[in-house]
Amino acid sequence: MQAADSAYPCRPRGILRLDGVRPAVGDNCLFTPGEDGEDGSIEKILPRRNALVRPAVANVDLVVAVCSVDMINLPLLDMYLVLLETQKPDEGAYNIAVLINKMDLTDDDTMTITRRAYEDAGYRVIYFSAATGRGADELTGLINGGAAVMAGQSGAGKSSIVNLLCNKNAMDVGALSGKQVRGKHTTRHAELFAFGGGYITDTPGFASLKDAGVSRGALKGCFTEFARYAGECRFTDCTHVNEPDCAVKAQAGLGIGLSRYENYVNFYKSAAVNK
Ligand code: GDP
Ligand code: ZN
Repeated sequence: MQAADSAYPCRPRGILRLDGVRPAVGDNCLFTPGEDGEDGSIEKILPRRNALVRPAVANVDLVVAVCSVDMINLPLLDMYLVLLETQKPDEGAYNIAVLINKMDLTDDDTMTITRRAYEDAGYRVIYFSAATGRGADELTGLINGGAAVMAGQSGAGKSSIVNLLCNKNAMDVGALSGKQVRGKHTTRHAELFAFGGGYITDTPGFASLKDAGVSRGALKGCFTEFARYAGECRFTDCTHVNEPDCAVKAQAGLGIGLSRYENYVNFYKSAAVNK
């Protein structure tokens, strides 16, 4: 646990005493510090503003979906965005940004279509390079002293980005102790770093989200850019897959990114019918 400027190692009390809630990274808790070097104990988990299931992090202001130009996987990104949309509460929701890392390996023109597709979907898109520092100020401004989570495919550069921001911050304002500045390692569980008055969480990467379990009914609303056109579909309950006079399908490759539309159709076909 972190209180004022000190960290206190803690274990949860029996899970039943915590009303069956498993503590997650980012939780605010009441706790009793341990004595004589013993672990303290978490007494109560305070109400959460929001909670991500994957990765398990609570009270998030900004989720940064990290991709990399050398291993772009748009179906994986779109499925992750679907999960983020389904986990969003009506109130106290987090913002979502798409970060395209390793821009030092390509030029902006090759990413223009991808950028457009996600901006049309309402996401902030950040061109980034942990190698050159490109985008660091933009990302810092977006985090704005809140609680940010870096999530995405393994190898996309999440740890490099966290290291860059935290090291830069440490050099800029001397806000971090040397301990929090890390070397190279693999992230096996979510880790929290103090950053600019808030914090930034590095999380384990994922390679696939096949078992995401989102129903057909829920999918449509997760592609928020469809709403702009759906009112013009011939059928009010149009699924935007096979129906005639579908205004959403007509916009694929125009006002809606072609790959966004295609991924929607693929997810729809493999999703559970009733749920
Ligand atoms: P993570 O699994 O998402 O945490 O990814 P890492 O931060 O461990 O980075 C994976 C690999 O990509 C490492 O070899 C990094 O050195 C490399 N890498 C990270 N960011 C960049 C970048 O902006 N440009 C280039 N060229 N390589 C990068
Ligand atoms: Zn339609």
